[in-house]
Amino acid sequence: WAKADGKSRWALFDSERNAREVARFTLSATMPAALERGEFYVDYQPLVRLTDTAVVGVEALVRWQHPEFGRLGPDRFIELAEETGLIVSLGRWVLEQACRQARSWIDEFGAAAPFVSVNLAVRQLRDAGLVGDVARILAESGLPPGKLQLELTESAIMGNAAEPLDALCALSDMGVRIAIDDFGTGYSNLAYLRHLPVHELKIAGSFVEGLRAAAAGDEVDQQIVATLVSLAHALGLTVTAEGVETTTQAERLRAIGCDSGQGWLFAKPGPPASIDGLL
Ligand code: C2E
Ligand code: MG
Ligand code: MG
Ligand code: MG
Repeated sequence: WAKADGKSRWALFDSERNAREVARFTLSATMPAALERGEFYVDYQPLVRLTDTAVVGVEALVRWQHPEFGRLGPDRFIELAEETGLIVSLGRWVLEQACRQARSWIDEFGAAAPFVSVNLAVRQLRDAGLVGDVARILAESGLPPGKLQLELTESAIMGNAAEPLDALCALSDMGVRIAIDDFGTGYSNLAYLRHLPVHELKIAGSFVEGLRAAAAGDEVDQQIVATLVSLAHALGLTVTAEGVETTTQAERLRAIGCDSGQGWLFAKPGPPASIDGLL
């Protein structure tokens, strides 16, 4: 349709798109060298038990300190890394960092140290080397398997291909915890969920947002969250609410029976030292 409106619109549309494409291409083409050069780093954000604010877990979140563009969040490059396949080596690197860091918290704070929760892309779950990589990284870091949690989205877990499920079972048999990230935003087959080796549901921040103010109309979100929590508990899973920003939200989640919360109310993602102070 743009072409029918005249040549100039085509050109404008094209140059904007080109700029975006060039930026994307530049980022994805330079990512392997950036990984080699050590431009990626991992921030950590606590998962806090709502009854007593103890830090039970810590999520590892990757960032890219780009020499030209500054600090880039994962939303800028994870999808690109999935497209090029670099996610497999980048994800392995994050896992190594996170497991080493979690081991050092155990050395410092003992058995009560938090588990570390690492995001896995669909592509990593499909990678034939995943289970072996996790086993090797656990052995090399000396992290007990129970202190590692892997976060997958609903679509990654619910896909009916047999291999990802085999990998999940192998990881779970190893003693690694499996969490479903952003729960409620994708399509979940609840009947199927009960047969999966899953240990935790992380309720997406979009539902938690509705528990912010004590306004009328919020009851729907409150009911949805309460339903997700009782569903999770009925399945024997723990529940973490994401995106907890206010005390009202935390109080309501606690009243509902949600196990833990994660969000700016407790701490923003930060370097390992920012967690030390909370342990
Ligand atoms: P996620 O796994 O759902 O991680 C939670 C996101 O919510 C993080 O964004 C975190 O900084 C943000 N967040 C935490 N507390 C709050 C809050 O109170 N309010 C709001 N509005 N946001 C909050 P981040 O760090 O930008 O990560 C975005 C996504 O990138 C992650 O979502 C995850 O899907 C992906 N990601 C991050 N690190 C990795 C990684 O190492 N591997 C893979 N495959 N994906 C990763
Ligand atoms: Mg996550
Ligand atoms: Mg999430
Ligand atoms: Mg997410």
